[in-house]
Amino acid sequence: MVSDVINAKDLKKVDPVFGQLSFDDHEQIVFCNDKDTGLKAIIGIHNTVLGPALGGTRMWQYNNEWEALNDVLRLSRGMTFKSAITGLNLGGGKAVIIGDAKTQKTPELMKKFGEFVHSLSGRYITAEDVGMETADMDLVHEVTPYVTGISESKGGAGNPSPITAYGVYMGMKAAAKYKFGSDVLDGKKVIVQGIGHVGESLVDHLTKEGAKVIISDINQERLQEASAKYGATIYTGNDIYSEDVDIYAPCALGATINDETINKLKAKVIAGAANNQLAEEAKHGLILQDKGIVYAPDFLINAGGIINVYAELEGYDKQEIVRKTENIYNTTLEILSNAEMNDITTNQAALNIAKSRIETRKNENSK
Ligand code: NAD
Repeated sequence: MVSDVINAKDLKKVDPVFGQLSFDDHEQIVFCNDKDTGLKAIIGIHNTVLGPALGGTRMWQYNNEWEALNDVLRLSRGMTFKSAITGLNLGGGKAVIIGDAKTQKTPELMKKFGEFVHSLSGRYITAEDVGMETADMDLVHEVTPYVTGISESKGGAGNPSPITAYGVYMGMKAAAKYKFGSDVLDGKKVIVQGIGHVGESLVDHLTKEGAKVIISDINQERLQEASAKYGATIYTGNDIYSEDVDIYAPCALGATINDETINKLKAKVIAGAANNQLAEEAKHGLILQDKGIVYAPDFLINAGGIINVYAELEGYDKQEIVRKTENIYNTTLEILSNAEMNDITTNQAALNIAKSRIETRKNENSK
C-alpha cells in the first residue's frame, strides 16, 4: 500500500526550501500558482539592503521543481552581488516560470504573473531573462508598475540584451588585456556558447573587431542565421570545452564550468554573459586560478542589462547607460589585479567588494 504519510526520517535529510544547498539566507521565496492559466512560478528575493530586489524572469522547462527552486535561489543571489558591485541601489531578486516559453507562454499567463509581482508591492521588480521578450514585460506592465525592460514606446529603455553584450565585450577585452597583455581581440579565437539575445550581439562586436568566432547553440536555425549574418564558424565537434581557443564565452545557461568540464578547458580566458557559470563558486574558481585561466566574474561583466533597466527607475539617458557599461572594463581590470595581489580567486575578489558595500549600507541603515 502506498502511504501518503511522509517518513519523518526522510524529511530530515534535506529541508525542502531553507535546507537547499543554494539557499543563502534569502529573505523571501514566493510560490505562485494559477490553475486557469497554468502558471507555476517561483519568485526569489535574496537581499533588499541596497534597494528593491530587481532581476529578470526566466521561463524554462525544468525537469522538476527542485531544479526551478535551485535556479531561482542561485540567480536571485547573483543579482544581489551584481547590483552591489555595479554601484546600483538595488537588491537581488529573480523569478522563474516553469514551462516551455515557446508553447506555454500566453498573454493571460504573463498578466497573472504580473499580478503576483504586484502583490509584493515593489519589494521585487521584474524584467526579462531567458525565454522572455520585451513584449512580455509590456504585458506585465499592464497590471503592475513593478517591471522594467519594457518597450521604449511605452517609456522603457527597451531590450537590455545589446547593452549586456556590450558590457560582456568590455569585460572580455579587460580580461584579454590581463592575460595576453593587449585588449585587441583581432585574430583571437573565441567560442561563443548560446547565440540568443546576448550571444548574437556579442558575436556582432567580436566579428567586427576581427576575432575568429566559433558559435555553438542547441538551436540549429539560430546558428545558420548567425553564421550567415556575421560570418562566424559553426562548431561541429562534440565537446566544445576541449576546443583549443583563446577565449570561452558562456552565453547560454549557468553551471557550464563544473566537475565534468573544468579539466578539459583549453581556453585561457573565460568571459561570457551566462549567470552562475561556476557550478561551485569556491571549488571551481580555485581550479581555474590554479590552471592560470583568467575568469571574468559573470555577475560583474554581465551587468549591462541591469544598468539598462535601472535607467528606467532612475531616469538617466542612453549616454549614461553606455558610460556606466563601459566602466565594466576598468572594474574588471581592478578585480583581476586585486585577486592576484591577494592570492584569491577572481570570483571571490568580486564577491568581497560587493559584500562589503552591502555590509556598509546595512550598518548605516541600522544607525
Ligand atoms: P536567450 O534565451 O535569448 O539565449 C540563450 C541561447 O542559448 C538560446 O539560443 C538557446 O538555444 C541557447 N542554449 C541553451 N542551452 C544551450 C546549450 N546547452 N548549448 C548551447 N546553447 C544553448 O537568452 P539571453 O537573454 O541571450 O541570455 C543568455 C544568458 O545570459 C543567460 O544565462 C542569461 O541569464 C544571461 N544574462 C542575460 C542578460 C540579458 O540582458 N538578456 C543579462 C544578464 C545575464
